[in-house]
Amino acid sequence: MRNVYGVLGNPIGHSLSPVMHGAAFKAAGIEAVYGTFQSVNLKGCIHGIRALGISGMSITIPFKTAVIPHLDAIDGMAREMGAVNTIVNRNGYLKGFNTDGWAAIKAIEKVVDPKGRRCIIVGAGGAARGIGYMARKKGMHVTVVNRGEERGSKLANFLECEFVPLSKIYDVDGDVIIQTTPVGMFPSADISPVPENVFHHGMVAMDAIYNPLETRFLKNAAARGCITVSGLEMFVLQGAEQFRLWTGLKPPTDVMRHVVKKALEEES
Ligand code: NAP
Repeated sequence: MRNVYGVLGNPIGHSLSPVMHGAAFKAAGIEAVYGTFQSVNLKGCIHGIRALGISGMSITIPFKTAVIPHLDAIDGMAREMGAVNTIVNRNGYLKGFNTDGWAAIKAIEKVVDPKGRRCIIVGAGGAARGIGYMARKKGMHVTVVNRGEERGSKLANFLECEFVPLSKIYDVDGDVIIQTTPVGMFPSADISPVPENVFHHGMVAMDAIYNPLETRFLKNAAARGCITVSGLEMFVLQGAEQFRLWTGLKPPTDVMRHVVKKALEEES
C-alpha cells in the first residue's frame, strides 16, 4: 500500500505543497501520495489521521496552534513557539514539529551569518512568531515592527525584545529585515508595508511571501542595494525538513525548489 501524506487547513486550494512533495517522493523513489485536506473539523481530521494511517501531515492556517492539544507529543521548539506545521504519525502516535521558523533563518544563513545581527521583523502573526523565535536562538537582536500594538507588544514580550509600531519603522535600523505580513501577496501584488527608504545598501531583505516570487518589497529592496531572499526559499526549506522528518531521508531540495518555482512562474 502507498503511504499517504497531505496538507490540512482551511482554505487549502492555493497550496503548492502537493506539487512540491509529490515531486520529492517521486525523485526519492518513494511510493506515496500527497493530498489536500480542507476541513473545519480539526478534531475529526486528527482522528482520521490515526484511523486511516496517514503517515504525515502538513498543517497550515488556521490550525497551527489549535492542533497542539490533539497530538500525543510536541517537539520542544514547536512547543515553545506554540505552533505546529508538521505531524509525523508512527503507528498511531502523532508528534508535532515546526519547520517554518527554522526554514526562514536557514534561508537567511545562506547569505549572511545571523549571529549578532540586528533583525527587524515586520508583522506579528504566526510566521513572525516562529521566525522571531529562531532568530533569537541564532543570536540575532530582534525588533518587532507591527501595525497593531496589541499583537506587536505581545510578540515582543514573548521574544523579550523591543516593539515599534509600523508607523515608526523609520526609527529602527537593522542589518536584516524580514517581511511577514500578507501585504503584497498575489493578487494584490504591487504593494509593500515597508517604505522604500527603510532599505539601505548591504541590508538583507527577506519576504515570507512566495507568490509572487518577486514581491514589491523585494523589488524595492533590490533597487536600494539590498541582498534579497525570496519566500520561495523558506517555503522549500520548510517542506524539505518535513520530508526529512517523515522519511528519514535526505530531501531532494533542488527538485522541490525547481517544481515550485516552475508552478509559480506558470501562474504569473
Ligand atoms: P497572520 O498570523 O494572519 O499575521 C498577519 C500579520 O500581518 C499581523 O501581524 C498583521 O498585523 C499584519 N498585517 C495584516 N494586514 C496588514 C496590513 N494591511 N498592513 C500591515 N500589517 C498587516 O499571518 P501569518 O500566518 O503570520 O502569515 C503571514 C504571511 O507569511 C502570509 O503571506 C503567508 O503566506 C506567509 N508565510 C509564508 C511561509 C513560507 O514558507 N514562505 C510560511 C508561513 C507563512 P496586525 O496585528 O496589525 O493585524
